[in-house]
Amino acid sequence: MTSLRYPVLEPDLGEKEERYVLDAVRSGWVSSIGPYVERFEREFASFVGVEHCVAVANGTVALHLALVARGIGPGDEVIVPDLTFAATAAAVVHAGATPVLVDVRRDDWTIDPELVARAKTPRTRALIPVHLYGCPARMTEIRDAVGPDVFVLEDAAEAHGARDSAGRTVGSIGDAGAFSFYGNKLLTTGEGGALTTRDPEFAARARYLKDHAMSPQARYFHTEAGFNYRLTNLQAALGCAQLESLGGRLAQRARILEWYREALAGSPIELNPAPADRARVCWLTCALLPTSDVDVRDRVAAALRGRGIDTRPFFVPMHRLPPYRECRHITRGGSVAEDLFRRGLSLPTLSKLTRDDVGGIAGALRDAIG
Ligand SMILES: *Cc1c(COP(=O)(O)O)cnc(C)c1O
Repeated sequence: MTSLRYPVLEPDLGEKEERYVLDAVRSGWVSSIGPYVERFEREFASFVGVEHCVAVANGTVALHLALVARGIGPGDEVIVPDLTFAATAAAVVHAGATPVLVDVRRDDWTIDPELVARAKTPRTRALIPVHLYGCPARMTEIRDAVGPDVFVLEDAAEAHGARDSAGRTVGSIGDAGAFSFYGNKLLTTGEGGALTTRDPEFAARARYLKDHAMSPQARYFHTEAGFNYRLTNLQAALGCAQLESLGGRLAQRARILEWYREALAGSPIELNPAPADRARVCWLTCALLPTSDVDVRDRVAAALRGRGIDTRPFFVPMHRLPPYRECRHITRGGSVAEDLFRRGLSLPTLSKLTRDDVGGIAGALRDAIG
């Protein structure tokens, strides 16, 4: 939380959230067994359009669990976009595999399928497309680029409800999908996450590993070293309430992005890509400034802060971060991720913004870039 008038995001928590959480508390089911966990898994699977949802403790472990459940480990390469939140690449490292960084496209900010084809080697076992800031990656081209045997794990942490060019909901398109329910995501359980899949065996394996890999037949008999990656019934209660309001929230965030477009029309500022062939959602409103001079970006952020408006820089490209500097990095020449990072600022996108609020913020941004 911040004391600024306009934070970048805040959770939308209402009366239903209070009621469901209170109900979970009063029931005594506060750990990971309880009716809200089962209900949330059922309802979220249906929302995504898959048969199986495995609720977990956060989005990072959803990614890690998926890789481990698929048997990916040392000696394997996993392709990830250079521009993402670092958890995507960290999950690969924690699985013992090697991240391979691939640049993103300028027109949608998601992983470039042509470069994916170039990055693929006989050791490539998985690819994690990220639906960055709510824009679905080019899933059909990505599958064509890697072929049928590579495990495609969608990182849908920022894109609940988005649809690709074939009308498929993210999290249902690849072999599995990973979601985050962190406090600033489109659906929150405080901390939380989920794996979605159509594959019953993969779902069962993930469910087993997330719960200490304890044999269903023999209590306290563990066939391998498992994890405790469970979501609690308390968190799932919040998730059930959040799922009921998600449609309204997505509509409001889409309106906010449209208000920004109207208010910034004719200015040199570019906003989130909106490819006509996909139904993106708006997690965060992102602005690209007309210059790639980071000092300008930081001055603009400071000027807005002085007027009570918070902003966020874009994610630092993975190839610049110490754990990933030595990773293979495939680009077309220059780095698109780097250019987006240098120009990008995320703007307040909290659901309660009005058209006037957005107009005021956009005006302050126009003033700040001069
Ligand atoms: C938030 C996020 C994650 C990680 O989720 P947590 O629940 O915070 O662990 C992973 N990938 C992306 C792209 C994210 O935005």
